[in-house]
Amino acid sequence: MYKYFYNISGGSIRSLGPSTIAALLDGIAKIIPAALLVDIFNTIYRSFAEPEAGLNIGRLWTVCAVLLIWLVVEYAAYASLYDKTYKVAYSLAASGRLKLAEHIRHLSLGFFGKRDPGDITNLLLGDYGQVEHTISHNVPQLISGIMLPVLALFGLVFLDWRMALAMFIAIPFGVLLLWLTDSVQARLSESHVKAKNEAASRLQEYLAGIREIKAHNIGGKRFERLRLSFDQLKRASISLEGVMGPMIMGAMVLTRSGMTLMIFVGSYLLIGGTMSLPVFLLFLLVGTKVFEPLTVVLMNYGEMRYSAYSAQRIMDVRMEKPLPGTENVRAHAPIEFDRVSFGYDSDQPVLKDLSFHIEPNTITALVGPSGSGKSTVTRLLARFWDIDSGSIRIGGREIKEINPESLLGDISMVFQDVYLFQDTIGNNIRIGNRDATQAEIEEAAKRACCHEFISRLPQGYDTPVGEGGSTLSGGEKQRISIARALLKDASIVLLDEATASLDPENESAVQQAINELVANKTVILIAHRLKTIQHADKILVLDQGQLAEEGTHAELLEKQGLYANLWHLHQNTDGWRVK
Ligand code: ADP
Repeated sequence: MYKYFYNISGGSIRSLGPSTIAALLDGIAKIIPAALLVDIFNTIYRSFAEPEAGLNIGRLWTVCAVLLIWLVVEYAAYASLYDKTYKVAYSLAASGRLKLAEHIRHLSLGFFGKRDPGDITNLLLGDYGQVEHTISHNVPQLISGIMLPVLALFGLVFLDWRMALAMFIAIPFGVLLLWLTDSVQARLSESHVKAKNEAASRLQEYLAGIREIKAHNIGGKRFERLRLSFDQLKRASISLEGVMGPMIMGAMVLTRSGMTLMIFVGSYLLIGGTMSLPVFLLFLLVGTKVFEPLTVVLMNYGEMRYSAYSAQRIMDVRMEKPLPGTENVRAHAPIEFDRVSFGYDSDQPVLKDLSFHIEPNTITALVGPSGSGKSTVTRLLARFWDIDSGSIRIGGREIKEINPESLLGDISMVFQDVYLFQDTIGNNIRIGNRDATQAEIEEAAKRACCHEFISRLPQGYDTPVGEGGSTLSGGEKQRISIARALLKDASIVLLDEATASLDPENESAVQQAINELVANKTVILIAHRLKTIQHADKILVLDQGQLAEEGTHAELLEKQGLYANLWHLHQNTDGWRVK
């Protein structure tokens, strides 16, 4: 139970305090009208039992007045409960979501590799929504629903313990039924949440791929994954309702059977003359009041059980360890890979015992067949993943010891698939350095050869960019990403040369921008076209995750090895023409 509340409160049980107190007060508040009702009943009964005293009208009016005042007090209590619980629930969910999103940023990319991309969205929206509902509705209703029966039990025991026993004796059996079936409920809830998340992921996948689906006119069977996930959700929903419903109903019937038992016992005691009629009637009156909140409690229990798995999923992600490291990175320092081995999946090594040394402020080109591990080298240097064995050092310091923020602060990455945020062009460049002035942004844009085309746009730097940069051409996006990198001015530049051929104008602009970017930087360039790297200080030739050759262009050509082969192949293919 502690774990449950720990999980739903995102690890801060204290934050549930105000809403719990408010719910307790609300529970107590519900007792007052019941007590006043008992008093009205007593007053009327006495007028029959002692006709000479007559009906105490004054008392009835007083009770009515108290009831009226109580209405106002109850409204205030409700308002406070509403305010406390909903504020707590929504603030917990909002800050929890933000904290989780921030936490995820610090995790290794390996974490994302293990998950469906839609899964994280579902976690942040779906699972948090579920927990939000539990905190705002189920927990307060559970607490206030328990208060009345508990207090009634204390009062009624003193009035007639036999009747009180009959009334409450069935409740432990109802609770026992829930407890015994707990594992079934947990399993069903878990598979329903899983099915719901799976369906949401498949739907997201379907919508994300809608362009390809339309372009290739894919229909029918291609929807299979989506159809299957909805089918699974339907089955999980039916099982959940079909099995959990009767269980909760069973617990309700058992609990409510106390009322019947009490009437039996009451009739018996009344006939036996060991209990007076007013006490019996009083029990009947309170009984109807007590079982109503208990029914609500049981219904809420089912919903809370359901949200336990969502809370667990959230906690699991929160418990994922962020990449450790506290040291600051040394700028313009040598980079060293020392017997590095790594695989995305532990059983399939991608880099094997890879060692090389890179001097600061030099250009190193990574060359090799597709899949040889070139991109992996750059990703490991940026510590998107941690390596399996060996070490990567910058300035003699293991990157595992370096604070990931500091490390990324000194690395600029220019990839082929540039992602631009749905914001203005200016702000997309500003990502390189949030404190940059407009003049600095324009200066970077000029050096990256994009100032001219940006200035031609109707709103200039304030022109909004479509999501992912959909409103710009490939070359334009690439130059914007170079402007970002120029603004960042990190000492290490990881450059993935574009494979897609750009039109000549764009190509020379991109080349000029790259020349600006790499000056005085330690550059690691993934080269797809060998002619661009002839002047690199060093060329590392990778083959199946191992270093096959190393040297300058001239040295490697002389060796007549893999590089020379690739070079000759390249020379031949470069010259093809459509006849
Ligand atoms: P290159 O850049 O030389 O083409 P990569 O470094 O991208 O090669 O890939 C090396 C190997 O690692 C390939 O076999 C590729 O399939 C695999 N790989 C790349 N990225 C991932 C990933 N995120 N998860 C699993 N395997 C991957």
